[in-house]
Amino acid sequence: MELRPSNLAERKKFYEQEFSIKKIISWFKEKPQFFVVDLGSETHIIKDKKKMKKLLILKPNISFKELKKKLIELAPEDVYYDRNKYKDANLALKNMNFKNALSTKNCLGQELVFDIDPENINCPNHKKSLHKFCPYCIKMSLNYGIKMKNSLQKYFKNIKIIYSGRGCHVHVRDKKAFKLTMRQRNSLNKNLKKFPIDPWVSHGHIRLIRLPYSLNSLVSRIVMPLNDIEIKNFDPENEKKIMPKFLRN
Ligand SMILES: [Zn+2]
Repeated sequence: MELRPSNLAERKKFYEQEFSIKKIISWFKEKPQFFVVDLGSETHIIKDKKKMKKLLILKPNISFKELKKKLIELAPEDVYYDRNKYKDANLALKNMNFKNALSTKNCLGQELVFDIDPENINCPNHKKSLHKFCPYCIKMSLNYGIKMKNSLQKYFKNIKIIYSGRGCHVHVRDKKAFKLTMRQRNSLNKNLKKFPIDPWVSHGHIRLIRLPYSLNSLVSRIVMPLNDIEIKNFDPENEKKIMPKFLRN
């Protein structure tokens, strides 16, 4: 099944029928304070064209139930959460200095995540570009994810790989990783520079990451935690686990 953008009706249907609060609760140890959506900047499939190229920050500290309601209403292209934990989420919203928030007093820490995307991989099928990807380099991203996880095991214990739609995210869930300073994150990036990562994410400037179990509407696939065996057998186009119902029916 082809990787293609989802339309508004498909997005809405996904959030109505498939988006599982139960799965999200089981993933998060602590509910994120901020959820952020992009309504359609990349695909230009959007309800209100005026909202293009803007991220919409949802009201801080909403429940997962409220989140689901919002996602059905908005039918967004992309759904993210903020990996930062703030002493005062409202103050963070007022300051709007999210890029450097991690080094401010209002920030208690940030979930460490490494972002591996095809745009940083040499794929034999196409040039390196933000909008170019194919099943081959998606699979390559995931294989890099496993190698990266093995390297990170020198430092950390609780590491999970999430298929993101075009590549993968390596989430480090140890408490000590959450507490790292930006300088320490930067030196970790340097130690791991053989991997095709976007250093801005793991350094801490980019605080957003795709929400597990949300729909990546660029490719019509579900953002999904995968174990090593699932990754080894992974077929980006035909894997049922990541395929929304609207493609399976
Ligand atoms: Zn490719």
